[in-house]
Amino acid sequence: MEIVVSGIRPTGKLHLGNYFGAVKSFLQMQENYQTYFFIADIHSLTTHPTPADLQGNVRQVLAEYLAMGLDPDKCALFIQSDVPQISELYTYMNMNAYLGELERSASFKDKVRAHPDNVNAGLLTYPVLMAVDILIHKADYVPVGKDQEQHLEMTRTFGRRFNNMYGVECFPEPKAFSTTGELIKVPGLTNQGKMSKSGGEGDAIFFDDEEEVTRKKIMRAVTDSGPTELNQIKPEAIQNLFDIMKLVSTKDTIEHFDSLYNTCEIRYGDFKKQLAEDVLSFVRPIREKIQSIKSDDTFLGKAAKTGAEKAIDSAEKTLREVRELIGFKRFY
Ligand code: AMP
Repeated sequence: MEIVVSGIRPTGKLHLGNYFGAVKSFLQMQENYQTYFFIADIHSLTTHPTPADLQGNVRQVLAEYLAMGLDPDKCALFIQSDVPQISELYTYMNMNAYLGELERSASFKDKVRAHPDNVNAGLLTYPVLMAVDILIHKADYVPVGKDQEQHLEMTRTFGRRFNNMYGVECFPEPKAFSTTGELIKVPGLTNQGKMSKSGGEGDAIFFDDEEEVTRKKIMRAVTDSGPTELNQIKPEAIQNLFDIMKLVSTKDTIEHFDSLYNTCEIRYGDFKKQLAEDVLSFVRPIREKIQSIKSDDTFLGKAAKTGAEKAIDSAEKTLREVRELIGFKRFY
């Protein structure tokens, strides 16, 4: 079976954009591929989180992905730091990664610009760790956004370089995974582009938010004074709300409000009330699951252990090969 690897940032609460833009495709992948989904807690150390924040975020993200349907029996959902082989291969691969190519990485340049006071070596070698996450499972595919294309290219470079150095075909070249379905970009509620955690107060609809908070966010979403011509094109703010509605409401509901818009009879208050109720009906069962899983240490522990065991199994197989190729030989 073909192998897919994908990282998950441990940055706390997930929103509707994460679900429709990432988690949903994970759910499909776990049915058809051998999948490794890891919570990238080692990567997150470049920003120096406190131990409490790190643990809290990993717990939250793990609970959320499980609540959304990632199944420990179908995929390997694991925490990166549970697999020491990753750190080991990272050490080896760093020996063949060059300062020039690492400094040229677009994400490194962005981070230096954004945080000139914290340009640590981990940030510089971030692409090496990322390559290791992928190469260690000999992945065929990696689902990547546009901003990650360069990292995938660097992964291929590092893998190829290792292969050439030892005259072997140890690491296959991972390809970008493109889902056949359209990639969905979920707009935010504040019209600054796609829904995002960093989009400011009121932009994102989080699964773990209280229902009243979600209702308020949707009711406060900016609209306009209403359509003035029949069948006019919807301005961005209105189209965004319709786009969100398409994800959670029935066809009848969408057609109903679309037709009211086209005849200039829409009342945005009613429209948003309906949208809020449909969002909540979609979010509620997942939210309830998050709540129960988050506080269930036995369940979380079992899930994380199952994932770690699968990942360690696959990683150790690669490492045994790599150690031997490098020339490490135990004298005992
Ligand atoms: P982030 O929240 O930036 O860590 O993103 C995690 C995953 O969710 C990535 O695969 C993103 O592409 C996806 N994602 C985040 N926000 C959106 C959005 N508004 N629409 C679609 N996908 C998104």
